[in-house]
Amino acid sequence: MKLDKFDASPPWSTIFDAVGFGLVLVDADAHVLLWNGWLTRHSGVDAQDAFGQPLAAVFGAAPSASFVAALHNALHYKLPVVLSNVLHRCPLPLYAQLPMSESADRMPHAITMTPLAVAPWGPCCLIQIADSSRAISREKVLQKQSDRLSQEVMTDSLTRAFSRGFFDQFYQQEFALARRQGTKLSLILVDVDYFKGYNDEYGHPAGDKVLVTLVQALKAGLLRATDKLARYGGEEFVVILPDCAQNKALAIAEHLRTAVLALKLPHRKSGMSDQITISLGVSTMESGQTCSAQALLEAADLALYAAKGKGRNGVQYCGPQLPQASA
Ligand code: GH3
Ligand code: MG
Ligand code: MG
Repeated sequence: MKLDKFDASPPWSTIFDAVGFGLVLVDADAHVLLWNGWLTRHSGVDAQDAFGQPLAAVFGAAPSASFVAALHNALHYKLPVVLSNVLHRCPLPLYAQLPMSESADRMPHAITMTPLAVAPWGPCCLIQIADSSRAISREKVLQKQSDRLSQEVMTDSLTRAFSRGFFDQFYQQEFALARRQGTKLSLILVDVDYFKGYNDEYGHPAGDKVLVTLVQALKAGLLRATDKLARYGGEEFVVILPDCAQNKALAIAEHLRTAVLALKLPHRKSGMSDQITISLGVSTMESGQTCSAQALLEAADLALYAAKGKGRNGVQYCGPQLPQASA
């Protein structure tokens, strides 16, 4: 049976055409009964051309498969449906401005389908379509702000090395992974030699510049993307070397030490040289070993202490304390 279209003459047509979203009513066969002005403005299809037509055939291009399936479910199973713009960005060929240019992108929109029973048509479905481009650009701004904030939290503001907060989190994560997979993990603690004397002699701002330069050199000395350099505190830095054995970690530490020497940064008040030097402590949890994260860090600290004790500008190793085997 062919049904009459909705009598959308004033005052109803004035009201429907004024609302700020798309409004379509379709009968049980998905033929259009009501088509408001918002839809005409964003699809280019006039109400007269839409009335009585199957909804899927009204637009210049076919609606998405998800839209067709959702309409089927709404009409046949009386299921209310929401097509959010997160999963279904542009199910219908709608545009922000018409006539559109050839390169124009579809306007993102969200769709709600509500099954109804309305006299005289009986079962029908009310479809509401909302422009979601403003919500999407707001989401993008928020996402950018949140990315920038997490980037700031992860990065030391002076040196641009990773922050202590990042280290604490990343180290726990990498350590747990190494323990689970039985792989090795090395740490290098780095401390600038006689840095208090440097500040006293050249001033704190000059000391800051040295820290920035050192971080650039240390970062350049780390070749794998998985190796991370963080500022541990003051003029101390820590390098996490996932899947790195003792001999390789010692070679990397030695490479970092010589890279800093090559900078030839003058230091008149150094107790062991006339230039900036660093001391490094290395510790490794070898494959299958079961020390704690704390023990590995403490061992690297002991190794650094030993490097200081041996006169500075050197690399020392200390293995982590392993749990005592039970008798
Ligand atoms: P050692 O060889 O034993 O490490 O001697 P040191 O003088 O480096 O050791 P100490 O821990 O006594 O001094 C560290 C100095 O590092 C003191 C502190 O003022 C300086 N320092 C820490 N953070 C910063 C910073 O952000 N900028 C500057 N310029 N100096 C810093
Ligand atoms: Mg120092
Ligand atoms: Mg120190």
